Amino acid sequence: MKFEELTMGGHMSSAGGIWNAPVNSAKFNFRSFQIFSKNQMQWSARPLVESDVDRFKSEVRKNRLGGIMVHASYLLNLGSPKEDLREKSLNGLADELRRCDTLGIEYLVLHPGSSSGTTLKLAIESIASGIGSAIDQTERASVLIETAAGQGSTVGHTFEELASILDGVGNKDRSGVCFDTCHVYASGYDIKSPDGYESVMEKFDSLIGLKKLKGFHLNDSKKGLGSRVDRHEQIGDGMLGADGIMNFIRDNRLRGKPMVLETPLGEEGYEKDLNVIRKNLGEDGK
Ligand SMILES: [Zn+2]
Ligand SMILES: [Zn+2]
Repeated sequence: MKFEELTMGGHMSSAGGIWNAPVNSAKFNFRSFQIFSKNQMQWSARPLVESDVDRFKSEVRKNRLGGIMVHASYLLNLGSPKEDLREKSLNGLADELRRCDTLGIEYLVLHPGSSSGTTLKLAIESIASGIGSAIDQTERASVLIETAAGQGSTVGHTFEELASILDGVGNKDRSGVCFDTCHVYASGYDIKSPDGYESVMEKFDSLIGLKKLKGFHLNDSKKGLGSRVDRHEQIGDGMLGADGIMNFIRDNRLRGKPMVLETPLGEEGYEKDLNVIRKNLGEDGK
């Protein structure tokens, strides 16, 4: 396995213009990246401007970037029993899928939501039908359901729950999973030891299917196995550690799938994260 064969990326800022995300990705030699396409803490979104979209697409092409992800707003909760919140979440999800289509982006990453105020079973049904409906209203982009860490009443911290959601989404070829290494470790799956890693991936494959695994958030974890706490750490500095991260890096079944860093220092820390990976591959850091 060589570093250059990986589809590495990072969550990138769109400050100053959305086209800056691909421009700055190229500085890390990334082959993919993730952005917010709107303010992630607000419901409203300014419409995309055509000249910005053209500039974005041209920078993506020029820098040979692909498997790009938009991370959906943190406010969306399709699992909510509150009619108005669910309605806003559904409209928000469809709107974000349309923005992906406009930008030519393949994937929209979505937190499954929470079951607070209802039962897990009803929340899962509501999330699945909401995703299906948003897909039906739009053209191209796929929804990737993100593995959850299991904080509070969040849904989707077990492969069984993710499988149930995906089963309930009608439009199968436009749905998949974004595997967050920090969240999966925190939720209690031992992906750190080589044996543990193999059995977790086998379990994922039998319950969900590796072909549904479309991309990764590659993060170390500040908290330990089964802590159910969602706190990212720089690669190699956390409880998952370089050993855990390298299980994913070295797994040939995962080649071509985007691996996006969401580490706490953001763009300030990516070079350091990448150097840990390079060193563990026996290549010189920069
Ligand atoms: Zn996320
Ligand atoms: Zn997280």
